[in-house]
Amino acid sequence: MPQMESNALVLYSQNYKEQDKLVKIFTKEHGKRMFFLKNPSKSRLNFGIQPLTSANMIFQINDTGFSFINDISEVRIFKNINEDIFLNAHAAYLVALADASISDNIKDVPLFEFLTKSLELIDSRFDREVITNIFELQIMGHFGSSIDFSQCVFCHRTDLPMDYSFKYNGCLCINHFNEDERRSHLDPNVIYFANLFMHVDLNKIQNISLKDDLKKKIRLFIDELYEEYVGIHLKPKKFLDQMDSWSSLMTDLGQARKSEENDKES
Ligand SMILES: [Zn+2]
Repeated sequence: MPQMESNALVLYSQNYKEQDKLVKIFTKEHGKRMFFLKNPSKSRLNFGIQPLTSANMIFQINDTGFSFINDISEVRIFKNINEDIFLNAHAAYLVALADASISDNIKDVPLFEFLTKSLELIDSRFDREVITNIFELQIMGHFGSSIDFSQCVFCHRTDLPMDYSFKYNGCLCINHFNEDERRSHLDPNVIYFANLFMHVDLNKIQNISLKDDLKKKIRLFIDELYEEYVGIHLKPKKFLDQMDSWSSLMTDLGQARKSEENDKES
């Protein structure tokens, strides 16, 4: 087995037998692979094989079985993602989506860079919901689904308010709403942002600020798209949904408490 070197991102790890570990790592140059580590808790490599760690790795690849890590350097930890349960939930979901979207041992440099950049932006506290939505929309192509949110499927106009039609797998402009009586009845801003998110380059992204109400509508629409076109149900997504409801509950409680305090003061 020849020795190779690549940037890599640890997706997840699991215990194997008593003290050993299997670690799923997405390498930039050789795709995603399962690595075997013997008793890593006693190894200097342990630091670099924690989930959501990015590093430069030297390893040996075995196409029929486990691969082996020889050395790890330039270990980079996403500090905020590690410390903030909300950021962590988003990051875990993106990692699970990326993992589900490609087979093992397939090189996919654009996906590797896209995932790494998304995690960097979440870690730098760029709006995590926006990054998650962008990731979800842009990775849909890997699941065999590409949707054009830029134009009406009938007249190809791009400048009118649009709705989405699952019947036509595309958008309807306001002049063609009557073509599908079961159209989605979306806020036209949802399609506007879906189109923007589908094409935005994360390397050039500027701060995007959306109202909570619009964010919720976009979240629901992407959930419908996933239900219809992707059809996978990932545990981290379920967790993220639960967390969002806790978070809004906490916000509501916070606001209730604030208004109570204000009442007392006045
Ligand atoms: Zn039209």
